Formats: sequence, C-alpha cells, structure tokens
Amino acid sequence: MSLSNAAVRDIETVIHPYTNLDTFRTSGPMIIERGEGIYVYDNGGNRYIEGLAGLWCTSLGYNEQELIDAATEQMKQIPFTHVFGGKSHERAAEAAERLKAIAPHAASKVLFCGSGSEANDQQVKLVWYYNNARGLTKKKKFISRQRGYHGVTVASASLTGLPGNHRDFDLPISGMLHTDCPHYYRYAEPGETEDEFTTRLAKNLEEMIIREDPETVAAFIAEPIMGAGGVVIPPAGYFEKIQAVLKKYDIYFIADEVICGFGRTGNMFGSETFGMKPDSISVAKALSSAYFPIAAVTVGEEMYQAMIDESKKLGMFGHGFTYTAHPVGAAVAAKTLEIYEKRNIVGHVRALAPRFEAHVQRLAEHPLVGHARAKGLIGAIELVADKKTKRSFDPASAIGAAVVAAAQRHGLIIRPLAGDIVAFCPPLIITLEQIEEMFAAVHKALDEVEHRVTKEGLR
Ligand code: PMP
Repeated sequence: MSLSNAAVRDIETVIHPYTNLDTFRTSGPMIIERGEGIYVYDNGGNRYIEGLAGLWCTSLGYNEQELIDAATEQMKQIPFTHVFGGKSHERAAEAAERLKAIAPHAASKVLFCGSGSEANDQQVKLVWYYNNARGLTKKKKFISRQRGYHGVTVASASLTGLPGNHRDFDLPISGMLHTDCPHYYRYAEPGETEDEFTTRLAKNLEEMIIREDPETVAAFIAEPIMGAGGVVIPPAGYFEKIQAVLKKYDIYFIADEVICGFGRTGNMFGSETFGMKPDSISVAKALSSAYFPIAAVTVGEEMYQAMIDESKKLGMFGHGFTYTAHPVGAAVAAKTLEIYEKRNIVGHVRALAPRFEAHVQRLAEHPLVGHARAKGLIGAIELVADKKTKRSFDPASAIGAAVVAAAQRHGLIIRPLAGDIVAFCPPLIITLEQIEEMFAAVHKALDEVEHRVTKEGLR
C-alpha cells in the first residue's frame, strides 16, 4: 500500500496517542477531512458514520451552525481574556449558570479547565485542599476502580485503572487505590447472582477502606458507565451499595460524567440513570460537543466555603490554567447546553434508545459475540472465542481490531477497546434510519470476521 503525501508528512511529524508507534510508521494515518451531521469524510472522499462520536464527544455531530456561530462571534468580539485575579468575561457565568442548573447535585460553583484529565486532576487537588482546610490533613487517598478511565495527567492517570496507562510511566502515584470493576459478565463468581456480586464488591470496598484506615481515605471517583475500560454498565443496585459504604466513612463521591454527561444514557447525567448521588461531577467532551476544548468540575457550597477560608488564610486560591474558562470555549459550552435544552436532547435519546439497545442486544446472537450491552445511545459487544466458557481470542489475532477494520470498509467508524470489546457511541443527533445503517455495517463486519475465524481456525 503506498502512502499519500499527507500520510508521509504526518508520519514524519506527529506523535499519535493510543497508537502503536512502530507499526504506524508503515500503516500511516487515516486522514479525516470534513464532517456533516453524523458523518465524516476521509481525504479520499469516502463517507463514514462516526459511530463513536469521535472520542465519545461530538454529541451534536459535525456541522452544527449554532456552535460555529457562537465560536466565531466570540472570536471576533474577543478571542482571549482570562478569569485570573478578579477579571472575567460574561461567557464564563453563562456557561456556569447553565451547568449548575442541570447538575445532578447541589452545585454551588463551577471551576472550568481544558480537558477531562484536567477536570479530574482538579478534583484531586480540590479534595486535598478542602481536607486541609477542614483540618483533615491525613484524609488524602483516592479510590477508583480497575478499568475505570479518568484521564492521563499524572494524577488522573493514577486514578485510571488500566495497566496500559500506568506501565512504564511510573504510575500510579501513591495514595491512589483501585477497587473492583463492576463487570458482572467477566468478574462474577460461578453461580453468583447480580445481587450477590454487587454485595461482594461493596464489601471489598469497605474492607479496603478499613485496611487503609478510613481517616486516610478522602474520595471515590467513578464513571456511571465505564467507557474506555469496556463500556461496563453496572448491575442494578451497585451504586446504592457502594454509596452506603462511602457515606459511612465520610468519603467524597465524584461522578466522572465525561462520557455519560449530557444525555448519553437517556438522562441529562449518568448519575441520574444509575441512582448516583455525587458530591461533584467532572464534565468535558459533550460539554461543548467537542467543538472547543473545555471541561469543568462542579463544587458544592461546603467546599466553596472552605475554599474561601483557605483564600483568607493563604491570600489566594493558588490554582488555574491560562485557559480556565476560555471565552471561546465558554461561549460554545453555553450554546451547547442551550441547544440540549431547547431541542430536548434527552427526549431524543429516550425516543431512540429502545431501537439502539435492541440492535446491540441482537448482536449477542452472533457467533463471535459473548456479551452485548447498551444503555441510551452507548453500547458495546465483547467478542469471545467460546460463548459458553467466555474464553477470549488469542490477543495476537486482534479480533476486535479486525471487526473495527471491516466496519470501516463498510462505512462505519467504531473503536476496539482492550479485551476485544467493540464500542458504539454515535452522535446523539443520530436518527432511526441512521441507526439501521450503522448496525447493517456492524453485521457485515461481524460476518466477514467470523468467516475468517472459521477459515483460519482462530478459535
Ligand atoms: N474521564 C472519562 C470518563 C473519559 O472518558 C475521558 C476521556 N476519554 C477522560 C476522563 C479524560 O478526558 P480527556 O481525554 O479530555 O483528558
């Protein structure tokens, strides 16, 4: 295969995240040139459904004029001004007001930043700061979950529970603990009911807290549905049991809504879908439909008051990015949240979810699929060599990647996750007809790979 000039330029200049940097030098990049609705076009003019909404983020698709206008107008008015040292701009409060109004907890204030990783990094710093302000100087440890994904900065990568984000980066840092992943299909003991499984997980969490000393455990962070860790949907009752433990030991609860926020699961936040009662949320991605890098954490009144006390003592709140509440990002976020409300995005997701969920569930009948799961407009299939024993394929066969590559040949971009899991997370503006088109491509891809698996004896 000969590479285009654009591909060669890219290989010689750009480092690509989550890429095998060795094989990439010969395979080169797929270059995406433009987008329209839920579709993107590569530089050869081929059209694809963006079945993962980019990186779980382009909720309003690829040519939302209102967002383009909001960004353009703000750029013209003033492209940059900051919020340090008492300065501000009106877009910051507009975006914050809208976020506060829909947040799934009593949010008092909003602290903006640029990405989901920064949001979770801020969460760690805020909890440490808060507990110092409260005189709880030992209460600093964080608990997250194996397979949880919370970002890649030093602190947020430490929260992330995926070996690929730790190995050879000297992570996690100390005081970052990982408890069980609530993936019933993979981790239930033989014969264990969902109820017994979630009870066991809550018990393990409590034992971890006691072992570590509850006085030292500050916070617990969880995605409502684990995204990058495999689209893991928790069994009913899981968060209820986990939250009872957190409450008992005065542990601050952060919902990482970076993927599930803003309608994805059929409610404005995943917290609502799964009965989570967080003290704070992290949001990013669909906060601006990914049209501009902006993210945020919400802060309750108690924490805010403690931050005021610390400011009195220390002279200032010593944290902030150059791009905290960037005016263009804030303008786009405010407009995005306005669009979700005026177009009733949650209602749209609820109307489509039964069809989407049914399509994903139906994939469980395919010989390659061990487990299929979906909620709202997010789902995944887990590919196995043996449906009965749940035995995985040899990782060297890269079956998940093969399905993704086949889907791409049929005009659908999706993403393989570790463990031969293939994720689906289309822009929220998808229609019923487009859902049909999407799953027709998935079926073709699965059939092609099944044919190869049989022919080459890969089971
Ligand atoms: N939290 C979750 C749940 C995520 O899915 C991601 C990104 N995939 C992050 C945090 C990190 O966000 P970012 O890539 O914007 O730093």
